[in-house]
Amino acid sequence: MRGETEWRSRLTGKRWTRSAVVDKIQAKPPLKFDRGILVSNRVVRIASFSIACWCSFQASGQSIQPIPDKTVVLTFDDSVKNHRTFVAPLLQKYGFGATFYVTHAWMKDTEHFMNWEEIQQLEAMGFEIGNHTWSHDLFHTPEAASRLPRDLERIDEALEKVGVPKPITFAWPANRFGPESREVLRKHGILFGRRGMQPEFDYQNLGPGNLYDPKVHDPLLIPTAGDVYPNWTVDHFQRVVDRAKDEKIAVLMFHGVPDVVHPWVTLDPDKFRDFMAYLFEEHFNVIAMRDLQRYVDPTSFPEDPMAKARYNDVPLDR
Ligand SMILES: [Zn+2]
Repeated sequence: MRGETEWRSRLTGKRWTRSAVVDKIQAKPPLKFDRGILVSNRVVRIASFSIACWCSFQASGQSIQPIPDKTVVLTFDDSVKNHRTFVAPLLQKYGFGATFYVTHAWMKDTEHFMNWEEIQQLEAMGFEIGNHTWSHDLFHTPEAASRLPRDLERIDEALEKVGVPKPITFAWPANRFGPESREVLRKHGILFGRRGMQPEFDYQNLGPGNLYDPKVHDPLLIPTAGDVYPNWTVDHFQRVVDRAKDEKIAVLMFHGVPDVVHPWVTLDPDKFRDFMAYLFEEHFNVIAMRDLQRYVDPTSFPEDPMAKARYNDVPLDR
């Protein structure tokens, strides 16, 4: 648009105008209504069309699409307050999908962690709410697996009270996992589960971690390609996500932005802005965990040795 102010990306040197950015964002159809209020007829038509497509895909079971290069899954753990106040509005501006893995573990700290109403607001903004267990205990042992069904249900019940659907994806607390709990997840109707970068990489090793390869990995034990630590740079972020191609997906794990209570996984908000700007400018396909259903049939999966493995080798304070 003539006469419009341009801004230049600090990362790529590309030039943008406000109208170009708005056009690009609006090209992505909104799928959710804010608190059930119908925003416009256009939104209703788009949403109806999307639901119809989704239903035909589910019914046919044959509409699995090839995985586009540059597919990135964003996940945010532990119900940190700034997920609602800072992260979600920024992601919404870019039209990105994301999953927020919620737990009750720290909710008594109302200054730093969300309550259920705030979590409902994230869902109303179009984001996925995933199950990270009520207690955030470790679920790698057979004994712990016997407690897992109730722990999952308590999250389901709290979400139901605020009108949020039962989660279909899961993140293993503190990255521990075991075969008995994996079976509990399957019976509970969980389709996809995210583990950490371990055991292939030690905790706090920058990696990059393994990409998710649906031909290799169990869908309930999807590896994290990048566990975001405070010393990550834009260069490292690019190294992690630029590998997402050839039918493989980069799944990223964030905590608070910043994370005052868990400073070893904090991330500076300016860095986060730079990371998200890079994904936007480089045309990444940025999705939530539940969106993996477009590309992967979670009922048909490879034999992954991790499905029989037990992992318990990270610091207990996490
Ligand atoms: Zn956690």
